[in-house]
Amino acid sequence: MAELSTWGDSYLSVPPWDVGHPQQAFVELVDRGELRPSRVLDIGSGPGENIIFLAKNGFSAVGIDFTPEAVRISRNRAIERNVEVEFVVGDVLNLQRYFMEGEFDHIIDSGLFHSIHPQNLNEFVRQIKRVLKPDGVYYMLCFSDKEPPGRGPRRVSKAEIRKTLEPHFTIDYIRETIFESRIHEGGAKAYLTRATKGEVS
Ligand code: SAH
Repeated sequence: MAELSTWGDSYLSVPPWDVGHPQQAFVELVDRGELRPSRVLDIGSGPGENIIFLAKNGFSAVGIDFTPEAVRISRNRAIERNVEVEFVVGDVLNLQRYFMEGEFDHIIDSGLFHSIHPQNLNEFVRQIKRVLKPDGVYYMLCFSDKEPPGRGPRRVSKAEIRKTLEPHFTIDYIRETIFESRIHEGGAKAYLTRATKGEVS
């Protein structure tokens, strides 16, 4: 896993995505009652702000990240905030090693999809589908192709999201939103996708 050391380096200082609070896009999902308490997995949980927020709101919360330093930071934050979250050090391309088939109602992804190497995306989708319940839902926040080229991760188009997910998920929506960041003034242009497990009919 050549990428792992690069991620480890990101956590030597405060990385751009560590805004110190949950992403507004996820807060809104909870505020409007769309994302309700359930068993939820945060893939690529990083500093843990999003999954800690869900745990605070009554979710049974699990985070996974393959960068040990990220998991250490997130565990400390959960203790400081007095919430219970299970954090696992592990690769999302091997979720089957850590979790049971159909274990989760929801998966959230804040800034992971746009970091997965395109050649691994099919395996990625297979893995997240497996650990979701039959009607489980995947919420994914990624940089969009409306964000001008420059610093930060790969920009993702709606067509790519559809092409990647549609064999295994029904896309409920792909909405324009922002990805809050320490280096993108006012946040980066992003898409929030909601996809429900199940083939497109
Ligand atoms: N979701 C967090 C972190 C986003 S950065 C947030 O919004 O703040 C992406 C995170 O995914 C990093 O912490 C990185 O270590 C992790 N990551 C990247 N590829 C991964 C993989 N294959 N398995 C597990 N974690 C991965």
